[in-house]
Amino acid sequence: MSKNWYPVIDYVVCAECGLCVKKCPHNVYDVRKAPTPVVVNPYDCVQGCHGCGNRCPNGAITYVGDNTGWTPPNGDNEEGDCGCGCDRGCGCE
Ligand code: SF4
Ligand code: SF4
Repeated sequence: MSKNWYPVIDYVVCAECGLCVKKCPHNVYDVRKAPTPVVVNPYDCVQGCHGCGNRCPNGAITYVGDNTGWTPPNGDNEEGDCGCGCDRGCGCE
């Protein structure tokens, strides 16, 4: 897991739909606060994963440490390959 990669929520554009919380199987978000996305375990985020950011319909998620050139697709790439290699169902296989 990574100390150099984790999601940051732009609460100005976040609609609090909860899709990102639902998407992540790594307990990065506090499920008790859903649908509001609250990052509580940033170090459990998977380096290179864009699973929640690909799902977000509002482009509200970016990543600390991301220099991949990825830009928020506003939900249009929800099954897209983010390249992290994780096999736990966060949309990155
Ligand atoms: S879905 Fe991926 S990028 Fe989003 S918080 Fe979970 S591990 Fe990190
Ligand atoms: S998927 Fe996007 S709009 Fe929905 S709660 Fe997460 S950050 Fe907010």
